[in-house]
Amino acid sequence: MAVSDGTSITVVKDTGLVASVFDDRTLHGLNGEYAIGHTRYSTAGAQDWAGAQPVFRSIGLNGFALAHNGNLTNAASLGDRLGVLPGLAVSDSDILAELIAQSFAEASGANDGLAAALRVALPMVEGAFSLTLLDAERAFGVRDPHGFRPLCLGRLGSADAPEGWVLASESPALDVIGATFVREILPGEMVIIDKDGVSSEFYATNSEAAENLCIFEFVYFARPDTRLRGREVHGTRRRMGELLAAESWVEADMVMGVPDSGVPAAEGFSVASGIPFGQGLVKNRYIGRTFIDPDPDARAKAVRRKLNPLRENIEGKRLVVVDDSIVRGTTTRALVKMLKDSGATEVHLRISSPPFKWPCFYGIDTPVRQDLLAATHSIDEIVDYLGCDSLAYITIDSLREAIGLADGFCDACLTGDYPTSVPSTQTVTLEAGPRADDLPEPQPALPGV
Ligand code: SF4
Repeated sequence: MAVSDGTSITVVKDTGLVASVFDDRTLHGLNGEYAIGHTRYSTAGAQDWAGAQPVFRSIGLNGFALAHNGNLTNAASLGDRLGVLPGLAVSDSDILAELIAQSFAEASGANDGLAAALRVALPMVEGAFSLTLLDAERAFGVRDPHGFRPLCLGRLGSADAPEGWVLASESPALDVIGATFVREILPGEMVIIDKDGVSSEFYATNSEAAENLCIFEFVYFARPDTRLRGREVHGTRRRMGELLAAESWVEADMVMGVPDSGVPAAEGFSVASGIPFGQGLVKNRYIGRTFIDPDPDARAKAVRRKLNPLRENIEGKRLVVVDDSIVRGTTTRALVKMLKDSGATEVHLRISSPPFKWPCFYGIDTPVRQDLLAATHSIDEIVDYLGCDSLAYITIDSLREAIGLADGFCDACLTGDYPTSVPSTQTVTLEAGPRADDLPEPQPALPGV
């Protein structure tokens, strides 16, 4: 967190869970009028203290702090231009902070410090960035011109007598502090919050049609109670399941979801198919998403620690198992084995997103194309590898129909249609080509299965 008391900014940050970084004693010392905070795993750059955010620069009157969600696609060329030696920048967010800091000089004729520097810097930045920033007397919210990552504005107090303003990636963050959702920050918009309230301006051309909100926010990332583009995410996930059932019905005894994001889609599948819904897995609530572990072996083992089968519910049954996506396939393979070892007679996988075939450059830590299972294998080959009895993915048209919007998304990882140029150093990863080892190595037997 970075907190301003009106004259100076204090930054406290570390890696780890929020509760382990901010105890009562630490919080006691953080008093002020404005604050920003940041929680995410870094998808570019160092995953250590130096890579943790907010990033601080001591320029201008009292310095500024920045928190960044997304990945920049031109960080390398910006770094060259700024004279950042290769390997010295901690992250793309660090390069962005340096660009803003150096823009203070160019904006020195203007009187409004950080706001003026942002007007100079932001048009040079490409890729995904939802930002919150802070100087001594103001907080800022910025969304990139494509609107890849969400950012919304909320209000404490009533519309007539506001008591405070809040920016958040996801709207449930407003609910938990009793704030009212006001609106989403628009692509290319910068809002400034100060003692007089909220003002807004566009540093880049904005048009609704140009929005490229990450479609995976609906499929997987966002909390189900998040409101995006005017709809609650949970309802769109249920609808994905309904449409998936219409497209790929299969005879079975029970429909179950992979907790958590697969569950609403499984409920929808059950309603539309008439196959009873049941729970087949219990989730350990104290373990994070396995998706984020870079080591495949660790990911497969983490599935076993994270999910435990309900054997009596599974035994002797033909299961439809609904999940949100398959990226490398490592965790799905471990999951299928766990269900079969627990007595399932058939496992039919139904996936509420189309095949994940292209890497993401906008803030999701996906591997090179060769490691994306669907990029290099047919459905039959994937079925063989996963050990399931059948596999079907929702179509892109049905996914859009479930969300209720025909356009305004990024769906590059599903279609290969990137809304921006991709980083030049990464283009080689877009070549699918055969994997050197054809299929991933079989995973070792999971303990306890
Ligand atoms: S490539 Fe995929 S994961 Fe990345 S922003 Fe686009 S839709 Fe989201």
